[in-house]
Formats: sequence, structure tokens, C-alpha cells
Amino acid sequence: MNLTELYQEIILDHSKRPRNFGPLPDATVTAKGDNPSCGDEVELAVKLSPETIEAVKFTGHGCAICMASASLMTLKILGRPRAEALAMVGAFRDMLVLAEEPEIPESFGDLQVFAAVRQFPQRVKCATLAWRALEQALASPEMGPVSTEKTERD
Ligand code: ZN
Repeated sequence: MNLTELYQEIILDHSKRPRNFGPLPDATVTAKGDNPSCGDEVELAVKLSPETIEAVKFTGHGCAICMASASLMTLKILGRPRAEALAMVGAFRDMLVLAEEPEIPESFGDLQVFAAVRQFPQRVKCATLAWRALEQALASPEMGPVSTEKTERD
């Protein structure tokens, strides 16, 4: 199996069986992202503690690159300090859009498969969609756990 095949295998695996897919009832922040040119839509739900990402899940639909990127992202950022997760957003974007050969952080692991997307500029937005949503989620004010109890009113 050559490298390209290996990369395709990882992307296919994650797009068919996305990890951390589904609702996150005790999320403290959510963010939506869409990519109309491809039809990708992702909603990210994150449970933040003051320092770390305690839980993260996503829902939505999209192409294989979009879904695989969201799936791999959730695996990578889970349990990480917020600042580190934010730095990964920047590093991931750099990997995809920098004109020169990017430096891929060692911590990226399987995420480096998306470096191949550099050859397909029209798909870059597919790969970065979930990451932009994460950036947005980390920047938005926390709403606190969503209460399932309805306020009683006459
Ligand atoms: Zn797409």
C-alpha cells in the first residue's frame, strides 16, 4: 500500500464511521459551519472547562473530506487545553493553505493526510470547515449546560 492509498483509506474510514458523531447534551458552546460550494454542513458541540476541552461531538453531513476532517479533529482535540486546540486550528490551516511546504507538527499524526488536499484548492474549505467551527466555538461565550427543564410560566 503506498502513501496515497493509505491516506485515502484513513479518509474513507473516518467518513464512513465518523468518531464522536452525534449530539452532546451537556455542551457549553456550539458552532455551525457550512460550505455551500460543496454542500457540507457541520455543527460542533463542545463541553469546555475553564482550561480544557472535556468533550466534543459533531453532527451534520458533508463530503468524505469534510466528515473525515471533523472526525479526526475531535479525536485530536479531546482532552487538550483550549490554547493548544486553538494552536492546532492555526497549524492545520497553515498545512492546507501556505504556499510553501508547511511544517507538520508531530502531534498531528493521521491529520497529516489532509496535507494532500493542498493539491485540490477547491476542497480546502471541505477540510477546514470543522476547524473553523472549532475556532468559532472557542471564541464564543459559554452558555452553560443546556437545561432540559422548562421554566414554569402561567
Ligand atoms: Zn466538501
